[in-house]
Amino acid sequence: MTSTTYNLWTIGCQMNEADALCAAALLESSGFRPVPRAGDAGLLLLNTCVVRQQAEDKIYSRLTYVAELKQKNPALVVALMGCLVGKNPREFEKLRERFPFVDLFLPPSDLAPLREFLRARGIASPGPTGADDLPPPPLPDSMTGRAIVAHLPVVLGCSHACTYCVIPYRRGGERSRPSAEILAEAEKLVARGVREIILLGQIVDRYGLDRPGEIHLPELLRRIAALPGLARVRFLTSHPRWITADLIAAVASVPGLCPYFEIPVQAGADAVLAAMRRGYAAADYEALIAKVRAAIPHAGISTDVIVGFPGETAAHFDDSLALMRRVDPDMIRIAKYSPRPLTYSARHLPDDVPEAEKERRRVAMEAQLRARLTDKNAPLLGQTVEILVETIEKTGRRHGRTPDYKPVFVDGSAAAPGDLIRARITWAGPFSLIAEAL
Ligand code: SAM
Repeated sequence: MTSTTYNLWTIGCQMNEADALCAAALLESSGFRPVPRAGDAGLLLLNTCVVRQQAEDKIYSRLTYVAELKQKNPALVVALMGCLVGKNPREFEKLRERFPFVDLFLPPSDLAPLREFLRARGIASPGPTGADDLPPPPLPDSMTGRAIVAHLPVVLGCSHACTYCVIPYRRGGERSRPSAEILAEAEKLVARGVREIILLGQIVDRYGLDRPGEIHLPELLRRIAALPGLARVRFLTSHPRWITADLIAAVASVPGLCPYFEIPVQAGADAVLAAMRRGYAAADYEALIAKVRAAIPHAGISTDVIVGFPGETAAHFDDSLALMRRVDPDMIRIAKYSPRPLTYSARHLPDDVPEAEKERRRVAMEAQLRARLTDKNAPLLGQTVEILVETIEKTGRRHGRTPDYKPVFVDGSAAAPGDLIRARITWAGPFSLIAEAL
């Protein structure tokens, strides 16, 4: 290796982002420093996502570029991490054959191979070793004082076999992390200037259920929200079957615990939900959202919908549109179904909705969402909201979010990132707001 510089390239969900920052933190605590250009780095860290084919394709095109860099500079170290690597050693072998220029393979949330690599080169790397071991501190030095919001994984993997989802095959079965470890990391994050912590899990509501004697999510959230210096706490992603009355009560009552829920529904037709093996019917979802809103009327609700799942007819899709009109979420992440290797749906259910029809459904869902959010956000005009400032735009505008997770651009503010400010809404669009500082 010619230099102790690294460049990080990452795609995918918040869990992936958190894994990438842990790897970056480990490198920086071992003397590496980040460089913005891959061509200038001695080590390239590529963090991957394979939840849809589109993401996987992006990795392959990045790897083509990386292969060229490695050809020019054979001393370059290439580390591939995340869901493309997965947890099955037989899969690594296939990847090794396909991408011989990759030096290191790191399974999701597992930095042991990186530590071994550093030790083998005589580079001291602090922290314990072992799978699922996240290094102290969980934020790279280069981000100290700059990262206002940090993601903190609390449940790794997933054991819920949704028929379309590759995550259990890539990230392994569900494992909650010990609460003492999580709290210690949360304290470190706060000491590094983090003002908002987002607890992560594929089904975060299940935190602690696999660890006898461990506290559960509501208590974990209470303890984290009580940390001095921390302004806000959130958690995601929820599963409709695992949100408890205790969790809703905690969100309704704990100061700093934000009134925001990410609860993927995935489809509005019961036949499609059954084929996805989601474990609930559309009416259960509606009832759950009604319960959340009865307890917390101002709660922000966001959801995920997959369009074009095998066997989804135009009428089933209309059910999804209708359910979304009734539930009226504050955001929908819309994905076109993508068959993933090993999953039940890829093996047993023909991908029978043509691409053009998937795209039509995606566009229709998005148009409905845009129209609805335009109407829904209009009454916010003139209202005062609390914003946690995250960044300062080149124009001087502050950018941050409301407690219910609406993005806001703030004019007339001299606040620093990390400040909680109040501002009056002067423009309300479907996907963001503009406000004037008070
Ligand atoms: N754990 C969460 C859950 O249970 O839904 C989120 C996991 S996944 C990273 C995020 C979203 O990707 C899912 O909610 C789903 O909408 C979408 N997704 C997962 N697998 C998919 C597939 N095979 N095709 C299209 N979208 C998919």
